[in-house]
Amino acid sequence: MVVVSKCLEFEACRYNGQKISFDWVDRLRDQVTFLPVCPEVEIGLGIPRDPIKIVKRKDALHLVQPSTERDVSDDMHAFAERFLQSLSEVDGFILKSRSPSCGIKDVKLYTGKREEMASGKTTGMFAAHVLKRFGGLAIEDEGRLTNLRLREHWLTKLFALARFRHLAARPSAVALVRFQAENKLLLMAYHQTRMRQMGHLVANHDHLPLAQVVADYRALLQEALAKPPRATSHVNVLMHAMGYFKDKISSAEKRHFLRELDRFVAGRLPFSALSGILNSWIERFDESYLRPQTYFSPYPEALVDLKDTGR
Ligand code: SF4
Repeated sequence: MVVVSKCLEFEACRYNGQKISFDWVDRLRDQVTFLPVCPEVEIGLGIPRDPIKIVKRKDALHLVQPSTERDVSDDMHAFAERFLQSLSEVDGFILKSRSPSCGIKDVKLYTGKREEMASGKTTGMFAAHVLKRFGGLAIEDEGRLTNLRLREHWLTKLFALARFRHLAARPSAVALVRFQAENKLLLMAYHQTRMRQMGHLVANHDHLPLAQVVADYRALLQEALAKPPRATSHVNVLMHAMGYFKDKISSAEKRHFLRELDRFVAGRLPFSALSGILNSWIERFDESYLRPQTYFSPYPEALVDLKDTGR
């Protein structure tokens, strides 16, 4: 499940009575369950409403509505705690950028006697609670999701966490071993140290209770997927995968793949182009070890999109 700022495609609930079009909400509708929320409406600010902003007073951040001099910080803190506490199946968030409530970063911060000049950047008040409670989940704003690399990472993380959530709902040692095996190359690209720790945990030489293994594994998985992998890590894994076909493909195919790898490292080719080549070899040579690897299809095919604003 993905929690989304309600003004992104769902409802005209912005302070000015408008909504924001964001085509990824439509693209994702068939693949995820959305839970839209507008924190400002939830705390009783109407539509339309006078804008609110974050101000710094005596080292503390406040959410205020300058036109009415209302301070709605306590309302927002209480709503965020209540709402987030009620979530049990969430894998990620898409939050509206730069909003004093929902913005993850780059939210204007006002200080000074008259609090009229923005003098820095901060996190929206609702988003700060999201990051504190669910910092290990797939969290992005709609602006950053137009960047191809960030979107590939967000989608990869979202679907990996969702797969693990399903496993954790009916856990077993066998399912954990399979999860680790099927995600081996993905984890290798993201974080080799965590991958080894997770392998050790799944082997469970210490005879820990299953519930603890699942909880520890989830924490390691979130750490492993915290940042997008470096291009060089991808190259190591892709070369490793190419090794499975070295005696089967022609020299021209090898040369082509290595050229495409160079273009990928230079940032001129998306990861999905390389995984596409490997997927075609997996099918052609019926490669049974690589076929179940999530690395080559980390999220549904329908979501592969090469559009990139580069932002
Ligand atoms: S940014 Fe958040 S608080 Fe503002 S309108 Fe959108 S959902 Fe509501």
